[in-house]
Amino acid sequence: MSQFRVGIGNDIHRLVEGRKLILGGVEIPYDRGLLGHSDGDSLTHAITDALLGAASLGDIGSHFSDKDPRWAGADSFVFLRHVRGLLEERGFEIANIDATILAERPKMAPHIPAMKARLAEAMEIEQSQINIKAKTNEGLDAIGCGDAIGAQAVALIAVADSIPAKLSVDEELEMIEEMILEFDKREVS
Ligand SMILES: [Zn+2]
Repeated sequence: MSQFRVGIGNDIHRLVEGRKLILGGVEIPYDRGLLGHSDGDSLTHAITDALLGAASLGDIGSHFSDKDPRWAGADSFVFLRHVRGLLEERGFEIANIDATILAERPKMAPHIPAMKARLAEAMEIEQSQINIKAKTNEGLDAIGCGDAIGAQAVALIAVADSIPAKLSVDEELEMIEEMILEFDKREVS
């Protein structure tokens, strides 16, 4: 069995008036926001789904039903943090995340550093382990017409034990000395 597992996530929400626009946990000033049972954060939903997929844990809807009143208007980071916990319980570590926001408007580039910082913090990973890109749909389809914002994500996760422990030289020497001592004890008895 492979020590690494990959997952994919895909999400889209409609842009409507009277809602805040939240992507990657960051509020972006705009005259419309994403409609959804939760806060409609399609980027965070795509990443959450990619993580669930990599761990063979179904999808975001099976964990957080859109019929459940508890999740009405919910901060999508609640979902992301919960899923990160599920992975940890099963001995998985996040290797890296790559994601793309699909939006005609507004401009995403100025907000990407803040999204990376917030998402990395929620997943307890380094910012170098997450990449976020943004592109338009060239005026085509609902995203291209500015009626929706979508997101795609892939996640690579690893069985925690497969990531070599980062020991300092001193710690490693100490470990070897302990092993030799153990061995000597056995020799004596
Ligand atoms: Zn969603």
